[in-house]
Amino acid sequence: MAIYFIDFDHTLFDTDKFFWVDLRNKILENGINISCWDKSYKKVRRDGYTLEKHINEIGKTCNKNIEIGKLKDIIGNEFSDLKKYLFNDSVSFLKKLKHGGDKIYLLSFGNSDWQNYKVEGSGISNLFDDVFYQEKENAKIDKILEFKNEAEKIVVVDNSTQQLDEIKNKLPSATTYLINRVPKNLMDSKTEQDILRFKSARKYALQIPKYSHHKVSNLEEIV
Ligand SMILES: [Mg+2]
Repeated sequence: MAIYFIDFDHTLFDTDKFFWVDLRNKILENGINISCWDKSYKKVRRDGYTLEKHINEIGKTCNKNIEIGKLKDIIGNEFSDLKKYLFNDSVSFLKKLKHGGDKIYLLSFGNSDWQNYKVEGSGISNLFDDVFYQEKENAKIDKILEFKNEAEKIVVVDNSTQQLDEIKNKLPSATTYLINRVPKNLMDSKTEQDILRFKSARKYALQIPKYSHHKVSNLEEIV
């Protein structure tokens, strides 16, 4: 039996489209200016981002006339179903793995509440044997090592070079797939629209790996 550890943001889920395009636009449409969005975002992300903290922070520091309860309702209604942000191949990939009889774990980095909000909104948690959130940076390997003796093969799929390097460093036998969902022709685009559209994914894609990983641009290249 193999165990697959699958990352969430930028691997299964188009986090940049959700967060930096649609969510940000919705907040700006409701009377919040860009500098307020940015300032409050930077403040809350320092100790574990959640949308709730972000909106509370917007209420505290930005525009005294904003009704925060109303803004929360608007955002809650608009962004409860997040299925449309899954990449086209995500569900079919997970189903294929499940049919193959291997174990599939979601292994995601970030604040647990925030990660859970996105994962539950996507409706995919039932496709995993278990779901793990790792809040410490580059520490996915700690969770993976707990399963080291249970599997014939450990496979990891992630868009973070640093996470995969840490894994290869401590568990050289792991099979690692580095996924980059950013279309090649948009990797260097300087338009404001493209910068936001791939804001985080492009930064990850520019990291230089220390170890060798299988490079893929979609999940169908894996199984
Ligand atoms: Mg990721």
